[in-house]
Amino acid sequence: MRATVLYGAGDVRIENVPDARLIEPTDALVAVSRACICGSDLWPYQLMKPGEPPRRMGHEAIGVVEAVGAEVRTLKVGDVVVMPFAFSDGACVFCQEGLHTSCIHGGFFGTVEVPGAQAEAVRVPLADGTLFVLPLGEDDALMASLLTLSDVMGTGHHAARAAKVGRGKTVAVIGDGAVGLCAVIAARRLGAEQIIMMGHHPDRIALAKEFGATDVVSERGEEAVERVRKLTGGFGVHSVLECVGTDQAMRTAISIARPGGAVGRVGVPHYEAIPASEPAFYNNLTVGGGPAPVRAYMEELLPDVLEGRIEPGRVFDRVITFDQVPDGYRAMNAREAIKVMVKP
Ligand SMILES: [Zn+2]
Repeated sequence: MRATVLYGAGDVRIENVPDARLIEPTDALVAVSRACICGSDLWPYQLMKPGEPPRRMGHEAIGVVEAVGAEVRTLKVGDVVVMPFAFSDGACVFCQEGLHTSCIHGGFFGTVEVPGAQAEAVRVPLADGTLFVLPLGEDDALMASLLTLSDVMGTGHHAARAAKVGRGKTVAVIGDGAVGLCAVIAARRLGAEQIIMMGHHPDRIALAKEFGATDVVSERGEEAVERVRKLTGGFGVHSVLECVGTDQAMRTAISIARPGGAVGRVGVPHYEAIPASEPAFYNNLTVGGGPAPVRAYMEELLPDVLEGRIEPGRVFDRVITFDQVPDGYRAMNAREAIKVMVKP
């Protein structure tokens, strides 16, 4: 079968690899009908060091169950499923608490250990706990939005939860990538009154406004902080959704949160220590977040997608075939595309 392999910075290839197959009795084999390139894929695409082992990429997919192991109970061949970016048993103490990304038996797709979903098929460990069966056929028009439940919509929702977004709150979203845009949807869905999008790509800003952003701040650094303060009566926002993962983004996040506010961070951190610890302390800020337990959010978000109340699938502005995957990485990395869907 064909699959995406990252060999080094800027070097991503489509290759023929051994077919994915069942290994454990709790596995399912899923034929991938749609996958994505993720903003987080761009980190190794930019930074992978020579000598690091090749990685089979991809952690977001919708597909059709092709085979199940002997111990799989809830899935059957032909089911249309969403694959969350992490696999989990759905049963351990952390899964029961809704924190599936800390599953004792779980792990992440698209790592050196677990082959990813930018491929014709993917082996899904702990399939009963991991996969989410959709009540629709695989060609339904809602598939783009349902595909975002794999990662970006659930991750935006997690940022909003960690930042304690609620009715009437003021919110800032840092980052205008697909997660940031989904974070706008999530903030609005949870009742935020003011949603300030911080980003500077015109196409993304336009989409953010359609998703519910009430203000846009395109400045960076100190100027951005000043603008947010001006927009919020001098105090800053209740909730900051940090969807980038750099030291600068985190510093800005802490600087624009009002006293007693919260920062929800979902950008994979590329800094050693959380910056600005003094203002965070003196302003009594809560800093939370981490890898989103998107599996836990699927039940909650599904009805809103099915009934058209949210349309996170609009973040996909390019659909490509497998042959075009290297160019898809290049385009996302060059910010020519917001989010790329891979459709074999
Ligand atoms: Zn678990």
